[in-house]
Amino acid sequence: MRKKVAIFGSTGSIGQSTLQVIRDNPNLFEVVTLVAGRNSSLLYDQIRDFHPKHVYIQRHEDAIDLYNSLFYLPNARMSMEEIYYGDEGLDEISSIYDFDIAVSALVGIAGLKPTFNLIMSGKEVALANKEVLVTGGRFILAHAKKHNCKLIPIDSEHSAIMQCLQGESQNSIDKILLTASGGPFLTRDLTTDITVDDVLKHPTWKMGKKVSVDSATMMNKGFEVIEASLLFDIYPRNIQVVVHRQSIVHSAVQFKDGTIMANLSPTDMRIPIAYALNFPNRIKNSIERVDLFKLLNLTFEKPDLNKFPCLEYAYSALKSGLDKQIILNAANEVAVEKFLKKEINFNSIPALIYTVLDSWLTSIDIDSIETILELDADVRNLMN
Ligand code: MN
Repeated sequence: MRKKVAIFGSTGSIGQSTLQVIRDNPNLFEVVTLVAGRNSSLLYDQIRDFHPKHVYIQRHEDAIDLYNSLFYLPNARMSMEEIYYGDEGLDEISSIYDFDIAVSALVGIAGLKPTFNLIMSGKEVALANKEVLVTGGRFILAHAKKHNCKLIPIDSEHSAIMQCLQGESQNSIDKILLTASGGPFLTRDLTTDITVDDVLKHPTWKMGKKVSVDSATMMNKGFEVIEASLLFDIYPRNIQVVVHRQSIVHSAVQFKDGTIMANLSPTDMRIPIAYALNFPNRIKNSIERVDLFKLLNLTFEKPDLNKFPCLEYAYSALKSGLDKQIILNAANEVAVEKFLKKEINFNSIPALIYTVLDSWLTSIDIDSIETILELDADVRNLMN
C-alpha cells in the first residue's frame, strides 16, 4: 500500500522537494492533494505529473484557467468540483481526510487554519510552516493530542533533534543544542547599506525570501527555539543555540550522563522530508554523502545576542506567553515585508519589532484560532 500524501504549499521550496522525494519513490508514495497559492503554471505541471484527486489555487480565475487547460490532458483532467479556490476552498480542502500524511508547508499565518483542520484528521502531519507552532503554541499541541495526530517536524534542526531522541526517555535529556549557520552576516558588520540581494545570499541553504531574511536576522533561529521547546517539551533555558557555519551538524541533544548525540547529514532538505514522510523508516537515496575525511574543521560558537537581538526576543516571548509569540511573529512579518519592499533598512527590522513588543502591554488569553488571527491582525493594522 502506497502512503497517500497531501501537500499544502506544493509550489514552494519545501513542496517541490517533497514532490522530488515522491517522484524518486513511486512505490512508497502517491499524491492525493496539492495546494498552491498563486503559481498556477507550476501547479499545472505538478498535476500533470502526479495526478492528484483534489487541488487548490488561491484565485478563482486561475482555478477556471486550470480546469480549461487540464481538459486537454486525458490522464490529469479534473472536474471543477475537484479544484478548490478562495478562503472557503482552503478551509474545505484541508478538511478532506483521505491522506495518510499531510505536509503543512504553506507560507505565513495563512497556514494556521488549514493546519488546524489537518490535525483534526487524527493522521500524521509533517510540519514545515513555522507559524503553526510559533503562533499556535500549546493550543495547537493540545489540539493534536486530543485528535491523536502525530506531528512530525520537517525543519532540518527539529528533524535532527527528533532523530537523536529516538528510543530515549524525556527525563534523560539535559539540553538541546540547536545549531545555526549564522546567516550571511555572521562575520560582516551590520552596516546601514545592506541590500535585499545581500540578504538573499545564504551561505549554506537555498530558501524562500521570507526565510532568508529571517535567517539573516536570526529571527528564524528564534522561532526554531520556540518550536523546539514546544515539540520536545524542553524549558527555554535548556535550549542552547550553537552557531555552526558548516551546516553539517543539524542539531544535537546532550543527555544527563554527559553524552551528546548529534545528527550529521548533507545539507539537502529531501533528507528530513523523506524521514518525515516515511517515519520511522529511512529511505535510500543518491544524495552525495558527507565525506568525513573532507571535514577539516567543524566549528561551534556562541551566538552574539547584541548583534542579533531577534534571538533574545524569541526567548522572552516564549517565557511570557502565547500572545507575545503571536505579536513577535506578526511584527517580524510586517518588518520583513517592509524591508523587502525597501521601505526600511535591514537594522530597522529588529528595531521595529522591539518597538511593537515593548508598546504592547495588555495580555490576552488565547483559546481559539480566531483569537490568534485577531491578535495577529491587530498587530499588522497597528504597523501599517
Ligand atoms: Mn531550520
